[in-house]
Amino acid sequence: MSKEESGAVTLEQIVSLCKRRGLIFPGSEIYGGLAGTFDYGPLGLALKKNIENLWWRMFVDMRDDMYGIDAAILMNPKAWEASGHVSGFSDPLIECSNCKNRFRADHLEDSNVCPSCGKTGTLGAPRQFNMMFATKAGASEDDSATVYLRPETAGGMFVNFKNIVDSFHPKLPFGMAQIGKAFRNEIAPREFLFRVRELEQMEIEYFVSEQDWEAAFEAWRSGMHAYAKALGLPTDQLHELNVEAEDLAHYSKRTIDFEFDYPFGRRELWGLAYRTDFDLGAHQSGSGQKLEYLNEETGEKFLPHVIESSFGVGRTLLAVLASAYREDELGGEKRVYLALDPKVAPIKAMVSPLLKNKPELVEKAKDIRTELQKVHPAIAWDDNGNIGKRYRRQDEIGTPFCITIDFDTLGETPELKDTVTLRHRDTGDQERVSIAEAAGRIRQAIS
Ligand code: ATP
Repeated sequence: MSKEESGAVTLEQIVSLCKRRGLIFPGSEIYGGLAGTFDYGPLGLALKKNIENLWWRMFVDMRDDMYGIDAAILMNPKAWEASGHVSGFSDPLIECSNCKNRFRADHLEDSNVCPSCGKTGTLGAPRQFNMMFATKAGASEDDSATVYLRPETAGGMFVNFKNIVDSFHPKLPFGMAQIGKAFRNEIAPREFLFRVRELEQMEIEYFVSEQDWEAAFEAWRSGMHAYAKALGLPTDQLHELNVEAEDLAHYSKRTIDFEFDYPFGRRELWGLAYRTDFDLGAHQSGSGQKLEYLNEETGEKFLPHVIESSFGVGRTLLAVLASAYREDELGGEKRVYLALDPKVAPIKAMVSPLLKNKPELVEKAKDIRTELQKVHPAIAWDDNGNIGKRYRRQDEIGTPFCITIDFDTLGETPELKDTVTLRHRDTGDQERVSIAEAAGRIRQAIS
């Protein structure tokens, strides 16, 4: 059944493909796993890196107003006191007195019935549960040594705001960007990469003068749509949810949740928020350091306001996989393939000699692979099993092109010398092209 016929891909299909083909595994699996953690295998890692690199290239490398950083995961705990995370980064926790399972109160459909054991009236009153992971720095066991694993990457940018201003003297508006791990002790990790305890974020703090916030907000809003497009996410599965005034965090004047239609429903993919000067103000009071920006032309000193765009890497990767997953029939056989945008596909092309026991074919194919690797290093080699099987293996991991070298490539039919068979993933169509043309197709697809 095709994706269209079946309605939609299920999460189970994605999880199973990820495990079977070495993209993503449950964390610590041989020990029975650890809830809310996942390990990336070679292909998942390549996909993740491509998603991150595309983001970095678009929002940092291609711009003159962005400063990338890579801050420490462990920060002085005073930073998390100032930001409000120590007192307020919590979710409402509810426990069932019968089965002892714990839930997020705001995720329950009926607060009277336990979703696990089904008993009525066993759920207690909600209490606030802080989601930061705490650990100890150094050999001391007392409270003064408590440090937190950062619950978001944003904090690392605010504490380095002064460093960037002092070392680069940027003019407003400018932004800071970071990709890195964050940790949240989620009450109920679930839905594969969607809600995990060890996550990765790509975040931008964009600093503006107060009067410019609306224009900057709109610019980032379209920037986020442009990134979604570059990833190949279908526009009809991406939705903006304008957070209503009464639901906004106290410091935010406007927030948009970018939601995606996942196999398990419409959920938050990314966030965009105007956070006023709350963060710099909080860290200025917390640290006792002046974090003001000096406008050299007017001599005016003030705290810049900030537009924050926040992207979860795992949620992005899951959206990419869910929207690319296809099942169809090709040549009378069922197949699974990932219609990934070539820019994010882990492997850009697979090169293969028609027969692996003909040294002249193998040698020529190896030369062609080396040639194509000048376009992109992620050109795979496969000479196992028959050609049909090799194609199917690549389809399943989203490789956009397969290139086969046969006796005509060697010149058996003189006019076909140095031509190859180029096969297209989505249609299975094949064409005869020169080696240079095959290289050109790959280059064009990934640029
Ligand atoms: P939710 O309401 O779903 O818990 P949130 O509003 O707390 O998410 P933010 O604090 O805005 O999320 O975090 C920014 C981004 O980080 C989110 O848009 C999401 O992409 C990602 N993210 C947050 N928490 C998790 C998690 N537990 N697992 C995976 N990604 C996450």
